[in-house]
Amino acid sequence: MEEPRREESAYDVALRQYDAVAEKLDIDPGIREMLRHPEFALEVAFPVKMDDGSVKVFKGYRVVHNTARGPGKGGIRYHPDVTFEEVKALSMWMTWKCAVVGIPYGGAKGGVTCNPLEMSKGEKERLTRRFTVEISNVIGPYTDIPGPDMFTDAQVMAWIMDTYSTQKGKFVPGVVTGKPIPLGGSLGRTPATARGLVICIREAAKELGLPLDSLRIAVQGYGNVGAHLASILEGYGCKIVGVTDIGGGCFCDAGLDPCALTAQLLETGSIDGTPGTDCLTNDELFELDCDVLVPAAVGNQITKANAGKIKAKIIAEGANGPTTPEADEILADRGVMVIPDILANAGGVTVSYFEWVQNLMNFYWTEEEIAERLERIMTESFQAVLSTAKEKGTRLREAAYNLAILRVAEAMKLRGVC
Ligand code: NAD
Repeated sequence: MEEPRREESAYDVALRQYDAVAEKLDIDPGIREMLRHPEFALEVAFPVKMDDGSVKVFKGYRVVHNTARGPGKGGIRYHPDVTFEEVKALSMWMTWKCAVVGIPYGGAKGGVTCNPLEMSKGEKERLTRRFTVEISNVIGPYTDIPGPDMFTDAQVMAWIMDTYSTQKGKFVPGVVTGKPIPLGGSLGRTPATARGLVICIREAAKELGLPLDSLRIAVQGYGNVGAHLASILEGYGCKIVGVTDIGGGCFCDAGLDPCALTAQLLETGSIDGTPGTDCLTNDELFELDCDVLVPAAVGNQITKANAGKIKAKIIAEGANGPTTPEADEILADRGVMVIPDILANAGGVTVSYFEWVQNLMNFYWTEEEIAERLERIMTESFQAVLSTAKEKGTRLREAAYNLAILRVAEAMKLRGVC
């Protein structure tokens, strides 16, 4: 009998993407092999008292992929689908992301398998504080610095900072980024990922000769990334024609109004059913007649099943790992420009880095200073990836990996192995 084919995990995909580029590079074979593995991977199980008095056990993970260029950096995700393999993949992508934009961090990631949408604020706080205690020997301002990710926000970061600082007996704001402003958060952190994406979309549109103010945009996910992106692009004159979230989706050929979507989200928990819009499914979103498609929700959304039907000329990966390698091939053959996640969504970690620097200095910058620095880093990084792609005749993803892997391998070589 034929053996059932094991479904490919996010980590398998991350390794395939890495191997495809690394094996063509002139780097030491030992360094190349080391970069296939996380330096450190922690899996914990911990109890949380729920509001009804019962005790529920949760599984959580913290993985540090590489620290050759600096401390580990990466968000903590709360989602029912979080797995160890996914967190390992995300930690590896963080290593490449920090390297491609040249910020002095390695890669890390964390997650707890849970459904925060079904938990009260008190339950989320108890879960966060207990998880922080479980990983407190790993995280630290000079070792591994968490930040927000899917379904974690500034409040969750504040609880992590408070729990860690209480344990250490001193205020340690630099242990985590994405904090509320009064606790050492940075101005401009909340919309940073969306701002970085917009800079990449602007540069890509320029390269393809498409005027920014006439772009038609489709967005999957209307959370931190998707909602900020929609309102910034709408401000530039773009038409947001379709948006989906976990509860459904909306379409309007003349352009959706981000304020109306946000009002519906605040009232009902989803953008679905926003007045004056038509219903839209995820499948329909990916096939919309648009110039730019932005997956800004979960991984594995663009696959060989839908890649051939995508009409967008540019895909800007807001989410991490939204495109499978097979879909990448199909899109490349069809001439779609894919701005890879490790570049496209690096605005968030870049401003997280600014937040950490401000925490360590205890000296804070204006929003204009933050925006200016972000603009410079994202534009230069996009242009560096684009010229590497042109020079080597590769796609943007391979070019971004090429630059990132060489930077990490160089740091490892310079540090030496003993
Ligand atoms: P968020 O929790 O604020 O929002 C997630 C959005 O995705 C929500 O609108 C949710 O309804 C939607 N969603 C979830 N599952 C979905 C599904 N199956 N179909 C359609 N929509 C779905 O998260 P976020 O911070 O906006 O992050 C979104 C993505 O961007 C994640 O993949 C995250 O890893 C990535 N990312 C975020 C940042 C950041 O700074 N927030 C930085 C880099 C990358």
